[in-house]
Amino acid sequence: MGRTNCWEIKKCGREPSGSKVQDLGVCPAGSDTSSTGLNGGKNAGRICWAVAGTFCGGKVQGDFAQKSASCLSCDVFKQVKKEEGSEFIMIKSIPAFRPA
Ligand code: SF4
Repeated sequence: MGRTNCWEIKKCGREPSGSKVQDLGVCPAGSDTSSTGLNGGKNAGRICWAVAGTFCGGKVQGDFAQKSASCLSCDVFKQVKKEEGSEFIMIKSIPAFRPA
């Protein structure tokens, strides 16, 4: 089975052509093509915690510093971290930053 993206785990409907796109538009995690492949995801679907302005909970979130408390306790983060093991990528900006 392929790796699941945040919008599949959370069933948020905010991915491209998702059921809730008419509300806030497409979530940045769903449209950020530069993150494709990170943690095996489509766009930023498996590194959404590192993307500013995501739409979790139906409202525009802040940057990593502002949303990290909720992201680091989120099912998506926990699942991706578990699935990726030693290959887990935490931060997008520093290529291949893998915590020891
Ligand atoms: S970051 Fe949150 S709102 Fe955005 S696509 Fe992922 S689960 Fe949905």
